[in-house]
Amino acid sequence: MSMIELRGISKAWGDAVALHAIDLRIAPASFCVLLGPSGCGKSTTLRIIAGLETATAGQVLIGGADVTHRPPSQRGIAMVFQNYALFPHLSVAENIGFGLAVRKTPKAEARQRVEEAAALLGLSQLLQRKPGQLSGGQQQRVALGRALVARASVCLMDEPLSNLDAQLRQEMRHELRELQQRLGLTVVYVTHDQTEAMSMADQVVLLSQGRIEQNDAPRRAYARPASLFAARFIGTPPMNLLRLDAQGHILGSAVATGAPAGAAHLGVRPECVRLAPADQTAALRARVLSFEYLGADLVLRCEVGSEALTLRVDGQQNLQVGDELALQCAAGDLHFFDATGRRMDTGATAVPATDTGDARLPANAALAQRAAA
Ligand code: ADP
Ligand code: MG
Repeated sequence: MSMIELRGISKAWGDAVALHAIDLRIAPASFCVLLGPSGCGKSTTLRIIAGLETATAGQVLIGGADVTHRPPSQRGIAMVFQNYALFPHLSVAENIGFGLAVRKTPKAEARQRVEEAAALLGLSQLLQRKPGQLSGGQQQRVALGRALVARASVCLMDEPLSNLDAQLRQEMRHELRELQQRLGLTVVYVTHDQTEAMSMADQVVLLSQGRIEQNDAPRRAYARPASLFAARFIGTPPMNLLRLDAQGHILGSAVATGAPAGAAHLGVRPECVRLAPADQTAALRARVLSFEYLGADLVLRCEVGSEALTLRVDGQQNLQVGDELALQCAAGDLHFFDATGRRMDTGATAVPATDTGDARLPANAALAQRAAA
């Protein structure tokens, strides 16, 4: 049984269609991230799950029950917003316990639950403070505490970390994920940040223009992007997407790619393009246009035919602008997309067909790969 299920959920405001018949299942005690660019329908989807928005068509099921027509308070969910929605004049304890007070939970019980949630979130020492006396991360934890005291097994979060600075955001990611696992919560989490999505999720639901573009575990979304859109959106630096001519050659070059008929783009991740050993006659030649030294890695921008190619190689490599490189990729690392942007499945061989293994080049081969000019 899915904890949350959307069946054919559509949403329109007049002529403006925000969601097109979304079908989605989210497993109990899992962390699901709704990912996509601004305006793709993430918040609308979340708000429909919460009951804050009514779907134009379709059904929402939570824990097997059809809650489509239930108000938010009867769905067994808690929600955390981007701006935390804390009451500035109430203490941390009062903010966390606000929902319990509204529901007239007996005072002693309410106090106990607030203290439990505070302990869980490391807020025990701060219960008497006002939100204005807390850091952004602490305010975020108070908002989370309010969700936890409700003891809802489903927690919905809309960009909850986007007001925090980069370092705190990274810490909170770990905290949130750990808490979700420890408490066995089902979390639906909205973000436009693919790194955040990839690092936290069990399930990534990538949305584009109100449709699900891909719905997969992070590793699979990375390894097998379902479309050009998914290939562009997930990964930094992003996947190389080289245009192909009608013969399946990289545009502006004579390099055959083994592309299936009808392929319009070849995709390959920057870390999957390798420098070929000097004694191999690799067909793929590239010229270094610029590079960015990142310590462990060196990110190279090259040119192949009329197409740009980014590589991520060992930071120890000593390469210069203008160098000619011989490159190779394993067949399994190549992705092909048709003219509509859909992924094409293929058992094609490598480009160029010199490397079938997955082994990394030995580090001492460092300079050997610089192709003779
Ligand atoms: P996201 O959260 O992914 O940035 P939203 O779900 O907020 O996107 O919005 C999806 C689309 O629906 C957008 O085009 C947005 O302009 C539109 N939209 C959202 N809320 C409303 C509303 N209350 N009235 C009209 N259009 C809306
Ligand atoms: Mg939004």
